[in-house]
Amino acid sequence: MTTRSISQINEKIENGEANIYTAEEFKKLIKKGDTPSFEEVDVVTAGTCGVMSGTAAILNFIVSPPGEFIRAREVFLNGVPAYAGPCPNEWLGAIDVILHGTAHSIHDENYGGGFLLKELLQGKEVDVRVESVEGKTVENTITIDDVGRGQIIGTRMAFKNYTAFVNSYNEPISSIFSAIPLEGNLSGLTFSGCGALNPLQNDVPHNVIKNGCKFLLNGAEGYILGDGTRSSAEKPNLMLTADYKQMDPYYIGGYKTGQGGEVYDTVAIPIPVINEEVYNNLLITDSDIELPLAEIKGRHLPLGETNYEEMWGDYDLRPQFDGSSCNKCETCKVESICPTNAFKNERLDLSLCFGCGLCAHYCRHDSFNMTTGDVDLEINGKNVNIPIICRQSDRLRGNKLSLELKKLIENNQFKL
Ligand code: SF4
Ligand code: SF4
Repeated sequence: MTTRSISQINEKIENGEANIYTAEEFKKLIKKGDTPSFEEVDVVTAGTCGVMSGTAAILNFIVSPPGEFIRAREVFLNGVPAYAGPCPNEWLGAIDVILHGTAHSIHDENYGGGFLLKELLQGKEVDVRVESVEGKTVENTITIDDVGRGQIIGTRMAFKNYTAFVNSYNEPISSIFSAIPLEGNLSGLTFSGCGALNPLQNDVPHNVIKNGCKFLLNGAEGYILGDGTRSSAEKPNLMLTADYKQMDPYYIGGYKTGQGGEVYDTVAIPIPVINEEVYNNLLITDSDIELPLAEIKGRHLPLGETNYEEMWGDYDLRPQFDGSSCNKCETCKVESICPTNAFKNERLDLSLCFGCGLCAHYCRHDSFNMTTGDVDLEINGKNVNIPIICRQSDRLRGNKLSLELKKLIENNQFKL
């Protein structure tokens, strides 16, 4: 087998001679029948973005001058509970907390850790309330500048694709796997996974994605800690870490689901093409990747199978909003269901949009133009056509971060 070492690849990069592709660029060339040969590719940067429930942030900040309270017992950030400690910071007025991306505000279950982590990075003010062990309440407002140290640890990240869900019952069912309660009678399909662009899907088994490797988490350089929780050979995921304060708020945020606020992240990992086995794994395309279909209630029941080509095809990644056809309804359906709050006051903010597709299906006057596809399936012996109504992964963000990583490598600002 022909091989090349990481240091040989690094030398080519330093000399400006390396051929680096994003996974999207590489797969497009495969589709065109113009696949680069092993000799013509040195690195592929692969990225994924989606709801990643394993996200936790370790934050340290000051809430009062020293001497005002002994230590924190409970901490709330914009009403979102965070775990105080493990360091007690006795009498210092400082707090260490661990905040779960999936924690919900005590005031609004649709607001939670994911939204908070984005807002803090955007420079917004965050209200802090501390209940101390001796019964005192201390309140303050902080911004990102008050955070001395922040680190994200993701316990279950970048899942190698996932599952599609439908609801064959005759009533809507709420789930974290759908941004809104999924309507019954097989009226819509929701799915997760970036298909052939997912880093782990391009490196089966992990030949190059290994403990200690560097990558980008939400724009910040981080390290792979190892396998994530519930990772298995068939369904691998990763445990990851990176400096929270170095992250770009575009790539992380909250995502409302039928079971309250969740959190999304974006991961891009370089795949150095060190041998032909690694190269051959990169040839996988969306149509090669099976996607099991499950009933959203009792998701262990497989109903059938589709694939990621059926899910992503050449469909639109973002909607276009036609304000002239908007009827300015008394209560805007889109505003209430948009999982990232990207649509407000008849205005679409594409920097917040996740491309889930719900607006295109639920706007009362079809003011959103976005094709998200449909799929022909055989379920319980019957042929049915089901529209894809909700994506819980975002290829656009995954692609953007992969491109950022490619440029950093090309400019010698990111070493393999
Ligand atoms: S539901 Fe559609 S038509 Fe009605 S206000 Fe919202 S965007 Fe406009
Ligand atoms: S696609 Fe529509 S509903 Fe989904 S995040 Fe974007 S604006 Fe919101």
